[in-house]
Amino acid sequence: MTISLSELLILGQGSDLASERGVSCTGDLPPASDPHLVERAIAARAALGSRALILGHHYQRDEVIQFADITGDSFKLAQSAAAQSDAEFIFFCGVHFMAESADILTSSKQRVILPDLAAGCSMADMATANQVNQCWKDLERIGVASRTVPVTYMNSSAAIKSFTGEHGGTICTSSNAQKSLEWAFAKAEKVLFLPDQHLGRNTAVLSLGLSVDDCVLWNPWKPMGGLTEDQIKKAKMILWRGHCSVHGRFTRETVNEVRARIPGVNIIVHPECQHEVVLAADVVGSTEKIIQTVTSSPAGTKWAIGTELNLVSRLAQNNPDKEVVFLDKTVCYCSTMNRIDLPHLVWAMESIVAGHIVNEIKVDERVGKYSKLALEQMLAL
Ligand code: SF4
Repeated sequence: MTISLSELLILGQGSDLASERGVSCTGDLPPASDPHLVERAIAARAALGSRALILGHHYQRDEVIQFADITGDSFKLAQSAAAQSDAEFIFFCGVHFMAESADILTSSKQRVILPDLAAGCSMADMATANQVNQCWKDLERIGVASRTVPVTYMNSSAAIKSFTGEHGGTICTSSNAQKSLEWAFAKAEKVLFLPDQHLGRNTAVLSLGLSVDDCVLWNPWKPMGGLTEDQIKKAKMILWRGHCSVHGRFTRETVNEVRARIPGVNIIVHPECQHEVVLAADVVGSTEKIIQTVTSSPAGTKWAIGTELNLVSRLAQNNPDKEVVFLDKTVCYCSTMNRIDLPHLVWAMESIVAGHIVNEIKVDERVGKYSKLALEQMLAL
């Protein structure tokens, strides 16, 4: 098997703008120790005024989220970007694939800025365009592609979203995965679910009533995904072998440990967690659902939350009348989301105030055209 040089890039080094892999930040960043960073951010934000909109994903650091005009999960931020027609510059405090989607959904006059180009997503990188095209060719060869609809999680590169649009599929997020699968199964008998196996399996089994055996796992590093023709023909869900390195860390043992340590605790987890963790939890839901559930719960309730640590820490701070703890004992930040820090945001805003456009995310026109079809299909669900 040949591995290209770009596949060997270390995050934050080298250059591979076509993927989620990090690239060096060429800017002259203010030091993180600069005592005037917050004042500089306030001044740059004020100078940009209505020309700028700052979108902040829930997993961002507090130092960044305090400057966000809108906070949300990837679905809400995609909707916000699509609804936005005035801001000339959209500063996307999230990861690369989210900024790509914002570029696709906004007008050609608007420019999307990712403050640190090394903010990628390891899950999105688990499905490359070559691998997905090869998978589809295999499905065509055995005669099942015409009966299959691709459903692709938002956490994917623009190239994979484009593949999805070109083949009549839809994008989904953890907020609308059930609706997306229902839509897809009304059109076809099989779904190719990319790139998060856990969201696909959890939604198919827990929300649609399929069985685990209705799902097969496509390993992109093996010929024919490591499956037999018969297995693929029998399957209803063909799950891509991708996962989130943050949510994939929670285990059944972490759930048992918290239940033993905190009597009466409610366990709420994100559907990117492994199936056994979701089965052992009390509630499963998207980031927005986790926030709503914990925030609206009665005082005195106890919650152990299985999602990214920045969000859990903020929920604990904002709900002092409840006991809110992180599901795992070990620290579990999304390292790439955390690349967006205040020095990068200040540098990006100050550069634009000075007339230098930096870190613009621009999706290729053809890729953008088909990605938009798939994203618009999601927004129409
Ligand atoms: S939390 Fe997981 S899916 Fe989300 S950006 Fe980080 S690695 Fe990607």
